[in-house]
Amino acid sequence: MSNDLEGRRLGTRLSHVSRSPKSQAGIVNPPVWRGSTVLLPTCAERRASGGKRLEQAWTYGIHGLPTHHALEDAVAMVEGGDRTAIQGSGLSAIVVAMFAFLKNGDHVLMTDGCYGPARRLCETMLKDFGVSTTYYRPQSTEAEVKALMKPNTKVVYTEAPSSVTFEMQDIPAIARAAHAGGAKLLMDNTWGIMNFQPFEKGVDVSIQALTKYVGGHSDILMGSVTTRNADWAAVKNAQITLGQYASPDDCFLALRGIRTLKIRLEQQQQHGLAVARWLQSRPEVARVLYPALPEDPGHAIWKRDFSGACSLFGVVLKPAYTQAQVDAVIDDLALFGIGASWGGYESLAQPVAEITRSVTGTDLGGPAMRLHIGLEDPADLIADLDQAMSKNLRA
Ligand SMILES: *Cc1c(COP(=O)(O)O)cnc(C)c1O
Repeated sequence: MSNDLEGRRLGTRLSHVSRSPKSQAGIVNPPVWRGSTVLLPTCAERRASGGKRLEQAWTYGIHGLPTHHALEDAVAMVEGGDRTAIQGSGLSAIVVAMFAFLKNGDHVLMTDGCYGPARRLCETMLKDFGVSTTYYRPQSTEAEVKALMKPNTKVVYTEAPSSVTFEMQDIPAIARAAHAGGAKLLMDNTWGIMNFQPFEKGVDVSIQALTKYVGGHSDILMGSVTTRNADWAAVKNAQITLGQYASPDDCFLALRGIRTLKIRLEQQQQHGLAVARWLQSRPEVARVLYPALPEDPGHAIWKRDFSGACSLFGVVLKPAYTQAQVDAVIDDLALFGIGASWGGYESLAQPVAEITRSVTGTDLGGPAMRLHIGLEDPADLIADLDQAMSKNLRA
């Protein structure tokens, strides 16, 4: 079996990446390599291993073991980057990426649509350590971002679409503005996954919560920071300095998940679109916040830059309804779980309770909920939504 995947398509690569049966007793999957201590044959080699922590050398558990590296190679391939550093959660991936490129006196230009805990990082620890943050409108143009750049802006942070409100971002335009000002462009690519190729669009550092679709089964927490070679040392140094680590057992599960990423995501996109279109047809619904729909204001950019969509979107009801009615709809759903996170094989529903924004509005125009569509038959999901909405949304 040859591991030369150059020029092969994604489905083929996902089946063959990070496997070397010859070196592991013929077994198909890389095993779970557990270890803190790694024994070396001589003192001289032990001394020399100290400098190898940026390489895929095995020197000590926290620097990464073969199961970590197998997953890292697979994620780097999916995102089209050179190197990936696996982290214990999506949030720790954000923390590592920020600390890799920021120091006291620096400034961050942060999308107002960022994942909530990324905002908290800026408002608390980064602020306490002397890093200031300005928020910008997610839909900003190149000129608008340029106007907000300061001489000490070292990171421009993006996330497309926004958490909760789903505005699309023009990543290539924002990348041009960031690079003109000498800043790194960071992106939370958790929604895009394999459907957005960050490094072709000007991103320097791509962050993913592998907890979501890569894990895919709602049973692990994990994150990744992917870069080109030029930015790798800064990321790996931040990871090691901050003592970040992911369990090899969880890496094994993420690697199992990534083998089926493409088919799950394609199927879930189809289901998501079917449910979203049905919701659009309902008189109770004001808007579905989903860039994959032609009616969405971010659709043109999504179509230009993305090759597909995941199945997470928002639903805004007409203002005649109350949030209590939305809660009642969600409580009466039989097939949708109520809970945080997304990207598993099962459907979830959540009320959109609180939206925190600094420079954009927080009013969606009506009470809202967020849906994650799983692998259940969409006809059953639609029937479930139909019964819960009919029962609870009498105007
Ligand atoms: C869930 C999520 C994260 C954080 O991932 P965890 O593994 O839960 O820490 C980061 N960014 C986005 C957009 C997310 O949805």
